[in-house]
Amino acid sequence: MIKLVSSIIIMTILFLTASCSSDDLPDAYPSNYLDYETKTALELPFNDEWWVFWGGHNVSDNYHAEYREQRFALDIVQKINGSTHAGNGSQNDDYYCFGKALNAPGNGKIIDIINNIEDNIPGQFNQDTPTGNRVIIDHENGEFSILAHFKKGSIIVSIGDNVVKGQELGKAGNSGNSSEPHLHYHLQNTADPFNGDGLPAQFLNYYANDTFIENGEPVKNQFIKN
Ligand SMILES: [Zn+2]
Repeated sequence: MIKLVSSIIIMTILFLTASCSSDDLPDAYPSNYLDYETKTALELPFNDEWWVFWGGHNVSDNYHAEYREQRFALDIVQKINGSTHAGNGSQNDDYYCFGKALNAPGNGKIIDIINNIEDNIPGQFNQDTPTGNRVIIDHENGEFSILAHFKKGSIIVSIGDNVVKGQELGKAGNSGNSSEPHLHYHLQNTADPFNGDGLPAQFLNYYANDTFIENGEPVKNQFIKN
């Protein structure tokens, strides 16, 4: 039952806003990994500057925090002049991140791919395949990276491939339970995106709001880049 619930709710509700008071927020999942130190040398899995829509350890900064696997997940978009899209946002091509390269955040082996899910019309959700098109990387140290919502057909790596940090995996899209084009990323301790513990993902050597971060976790509202 829990598995079913989490699989339905997994991923992004980007249109959810802070319309409710903090008293109304659900509790964060009681993780045993709050102070976990990431073993894999991770870098941000994209080029140029992106913006953290949801990220952090608290439910107010990160709606994912309610869920075990996604406890420390990030939803990341590109934002220019205060908006994630040009035009009226009715088409995926309006969104600045749509079709942008997504890269391996760390070295590892590709163990799972979905690449044939249609991209949604913005504002609609596909709850049948919550992750949409996805890539799972086994970092071969008990850590697994899950990247979700790729553009249909854009994934250019295969199961069994060894990838290196920074290698392109595919393009950002709007497939699965996603209201607009974005990257969902999280680290966890199993290969099954619906059964495992989410782990804090510390990235190395990036910029958050133009401040250099040697080792840190992006949080809501930060502009981040390598
Ligand atoms: Zn997400």
